[in-house]
Amino acid sequence: MSYTIDLSGRVAFITGASSGLGAQFSRVLARAGAAVVLTGRRVEKLKTLRAQIEGEGGDAHVLELDVTDVDSIKSAVAHAETEVGSIDILVNNAGVSTTQRMQEVTEEDYDFVFATNTKGMFFVAQEVGKRMIARSRGAAPGTFTGGRIINVASMAGLRALPQIGVYSMSKAAVIHMTRALAIEWGRFGINVNALCPGYIDTEINHHHWSTEQGRKLVGMLPRKRLGKPEDLDALIVLLASDQSHFVNGAVVAADDGFSL
Ligand code: NAD
Repeated sequence: MSYTIDLSGRVAFITGASSGLGAQFSRVLARAGAAVVLTGRRVEKLKTLRAQIEGEGGDAHVLELDVTDVDSIKSAVAHAETEVGSIDILVNNAGVSTTQRMQEVTEEDYDFVFATNTKGMFFVAQEVGKRMIARSRGAAPGTFTGGRIINVASMAGLRALPQIGVYSMSKAAVIHMTRALAIEWGRFGINVNALCPGYIDTEINHHHWSTEQGRKLVGMLPRKRLGKPEDLDALIVLLASDQSHFVNGAVVAADDGFSL
């Protein structure tokens, strides 16, 4: 006996797909059968990922998207829907971070982090959500298979961390945004959940792990280890699937126990 999750026939739109978690989310959703729309600013990297996914027999498409630009969001979502199909799954993943003590944060640092992590994530969710709501309203009873929005927050949104205070604030806002969306959109069959990864070795932090400070930090983690992007495979597929229809507004930590 075995248990499988099948996303065949579903369209998944992933932001920040050119590296790290976004690239891995795209690979695993494609392996589960979804048609994946790879979005981000670095189109060449997205094309390389598309070739990898197609090489494995998956269905992948590339669209340019800068989540800090609302017109870019509207255009990418519209193109995805006309070129690939109605979006069933949104993985709201694009994010940035800066490192400094709170007294040193400049207005530019603050705006940089919030423009992507919070405002960008909100307007991507809104643009996709509006279309899911329209489908839900227009569908004959029982025919809308449901929307899934997964906001990639962070354990830093659950627990304030030194030197990435503004990042922590932006991710705490993502967690509350998730709840606010879930409360309003649950009735349309749209589930909105937040995924809070712990420290995972990706482009956003790779430089840090070879520094003395980075090694010290790993030594202080509950199991003294970093995660790999693949460690989130099962969670992303579950949250994207029908099987998670009873999970809405949840804040799911995948942090090896760090936020406890
Ligand atoms: P990453 O830097 O590899 O990925 C972030 C992606 O977002 C990049 O591809 C980047 O180009 C893209 N991006 C940034 N600004 C963008 C914009 N304006 N428009 C479109 N795309 C943009 O790092 P990652 O670790 O894969 O991060 C993915 C998400 O996971 C982020 O939201 C991050 O905050 C979150 N996260 C990461 C960790 C970790 O330890 N790696 C932990 C918790 C949460």
